[in-house]
Amino acid sequence: MSYEPEFEQAYKEVEDSLVQSTLFKHHPQYANVLKVLRVPQRIVQFRVTWENDKGEQEVATGYRVQLSNNLGPFKGGLRFHESVNLSVLKFLAFEQVFKNALTGTSIGGAKGGLNVNPQGRSDKELRRICQAFMAELHRHIGQDVDIPAGDINVGGKVIGLLFGAWRQYSNTFEGVLTGKGTNWGASPFRPEATGYGVVYITNDMIEYATKGKESIKGKRVAISGSGNVAQYAALKVLELGGTVVSLSDSKGAIVSESGISKADIEAVAAGKSDYKPLSAIFAESKSDIKFIPGARPWTNVTKVDVALPCATQNEVSGQEAEYLVKAGVKYVAEGSNMGSTPEAIEIFEKQRLAASSSSTDSGVWFCPPKLANMAGVMVSQFEMAQNSQRVTWEPEYVDSLIKKHMKEGLMLSIETASKYSNENTSDALPSLLKGANLAGFIKVADAMIDHGDVF
Ligand code: NDP
Repeated sequence: MSYEPEFEQAYKEVEDSLVQSTLFKHHPQYANVLKVLRVPQRIVQFRVTWENDKGEQEVATGYRVQLSNNLGPFKGGLRFHESVNLSVLKFLAFEQVFKNALTGTSIGGAKGGLNVNPQGRSDKELRRICQAFMAELHRHIGQDVDIPAGDINVGGKVIGLLFGAWRQYSNTFEGVLTGKGTNWGASPFRPEATGYGVVYITNDMIEYATKGKESIKGKRVAISGSGNVAQYAALKVLELGGTVVSLSDSKGAIVSESGISKADIEAVAAGKSDYKPLSAIFAESKSDIKFIPGARPWTNVTKVDVALPCATQNEVSGQEAEYLVKAGVKYVAEGSNMGSTPEAIEIFEKQRLAASSSSTDSGVWFCPPKLANMAGVMVSQFEMAQNSQRVTWEPEYVDSLIKKHMKEGLMLSIETASKYSNENTSDALPSLLKGANLAGFIKVADAMIDHGDVF
């Protein structure tokens, strides 16, 4: 067992894409980059201690992994969850570097968090936790240094409390966190961005693969998770004419043959803002929604065209991937970071290679998270730009930018895969896994070489 299993998994995926490609043959200057990039520029690890509601002292560990600021200031979310450790945060920061490069904006990569789950804590205790966390973190961040955002269990409410603490410690008001409240510096569409972006790129993939004959309209879509990303992905699927057949949380999954409605998703949003489990939200449901305790959606849906993992890492196993293929899945796009296990990705990629573009059967086309979920950080960068100028852009403008950049990211990954991925199958769709890894890597590597970080 590796000492940092999640980080090694993320590293190996990128390394494999590079080593199996023709990139180093054409550009030998890149050969040493990855061994430098695997070591974060800086890791801050610190004690966080506060008084809980019972009057007891609690202590936990806070982290910030600043992996690379070659393309711009460090940028990436904060996760508050009992599973947070250095392996998880190093994997997330590593992913973030390539993802941020793919957005086409100027941001480096970082990730941070706390190994505590805020669910079930009172608002007062949450405030004390955020103040204790920021008491140390504020020394290491700044609008031109490192700009954290949200991630699991760090939504708008927690960002507000963290920002309040930052204001007090720093005696400044600057755009140091993204995902802010609407009346104190938010960008339009920041909460929606990641989920919407996942669905926009899925729609683009379907149009590309079917040469414009099909779209997400009419497709059956299995989604996991029921938090920020899953909720907005589900709403966008419905808006574009698809059917959402599942959602899930850490306690189980809900599935519906006829489709989860907009009202159901709104009930999920309201319930989850109070940290309610799906089992409680749908306890009295009169629709055909079925709650399956302890389950993930993938083996509990019958016919499905699209799968969007949107909960957490390693949430699709090899066995579940096989089931999804049998259930008819054609497109998989990851809202969650490292949603699929390596075994699941291998199955999806094999399906892609087995299919021929001369037939209408596209096999399975897999879109990795660094491409599929990049709209969140992209709009965070837009929020930074708006904060610097003290202006707020029109929502329609931000939405149009999300659509444009998602399509450009897809096309860049297709072109880069076609150029370097070294697959002897002119017939199959290009590997977005390899294309995204290669395209993100080239951007960061060029900057590292220009800066003298690699010699
Ligand atoms: P939320 O905290 O809003 O929601 C997380 C969801 O995943 C909840 O439904 C939660 O269930 C479920 N979940 C969390 N941990 C587990 C677990 N170990 N097993 C099963 N289910 C679990 O987070 P987000 O929606 O923001 O993030 C979801 C994923 O998307 C993460 O991988 C994140 O890194 C990624 N992402 C998020 C972005 C954003 O803008 N928010 C940007 C890019 C990526 P429960 O309610 O029971 O806790």
